[in-house]
Amino acid sequence: MISGCAIVAGVVGRPIAHSLSPQIHNAWLEAAGVDGVYVPFAPDDRGFERLVEGFRGGAIRGLNVTLPFKEAALAISSQPSEAAQAAGAANVLVFEPDGRIVADNTDGVGLLRAFRAQAPQWDVAAGPVAVLGAGGAARGAVAALIAAGAPEVRVVNRTLAKAETLVGMLGPKARALPWSRAADAFGEATAVINATSGGLDGADGFDIPLAATPEACVVMDMVYKPLATGLLKAARALGRPTVDGLEMLIGQAVPSFEAFFGVSPPAGVDVRGLALKALGEKTA
Ligand code: NAP
Repeated sequence: MISGCAIVAGVVGRPIAHSLSPQIHNAWLEAAGVDGVYVPFAPDDRGFERLVEGFRGGAIRGLNVTLPFKEAALAISSQPSEAAQAAGAANVLVFEPDGRIVADNTDGVGLLRAFRAQAPQWDVAAGPVAVLGAGGAARGAVAALIAAGAPEVRVVNRTLAKAETLVGMLGPKARALPWSRAADAFGEATAVINATSGGLDGADGFDIPLAATPEACVVMDMVYKPLATGLLKAARALGRPTVDGLEMLIGQAVPSFEAFFGVSPPAGVDVRGLALKALGEKTA
């Protein structure tokens, strides 16, 4: 039951119709018995600022922010967290009654939660990590990995200049390498993380020299449509442990839910099963 006192939160992005976040948050709300609701918003490019300004002061409690508005979300906030500043983007906005807009980035937390869930043997501090890509998702991942204790993060990108810019922002533990040196980046890597949009929607033609990774190297793909991307299939064929992007999506939703509704998601709700069903994937 949603009463007149319901806490309202939502997700803003474009397109938004296929977002899994409303299903995940509303399943948790129902199971937790919280008087709250989570709804989607899809403003046009110029409508994002108007939408957020309209909520200033607490018309709703908060928003998750997805593409293409994550950088704009950071820019509009009055109080960005360290994680949001390091990532250069925000995926959570909380509207305080005094008019402050507090921004956070929970993608890094989501990434680390996904590793804990699907590769619990992996130790972030045990050796270098290779990150493919130098866009917003890569920047958040590199910042979170360094903050969590990774001794070195090797950023491999098709456009080397973008990797160099990213590394310049994140300090001496990050190194930039061109795509042609991916195999060098994979040597001794404890994990390889795909933070590019290559492999999206099953589009392969995405050449990654996975055989250069050590046997225990965990291969993670942020892309989750399809769940078994070409990269994850190739990793499994080589016997490498894998982590999928859906687990990261669920992982970033946990601290978002806590920020909006003031309680942790209840245990025992099969949000992964719900999301798999929505994606048309087998739940087994
Ligand atoms: P972005 O800022 O647009 O960056 C895209 C990156 O992909 C760039 O580094 C680009 O390289 C690279 N790229 C694109 N196509 C490529 C190809 N065919 N070969 C090699 N590199 C290619 O995007 P983003 O926001 O960082 O997001 C990246 C991906 O992460 C998206 O698929 C997004 O959906 C996913 N993501 C998932 C989660 C989750 O919770 N699972 C969270 C955040 C993001 P150039 O610099 O050379 O153009």
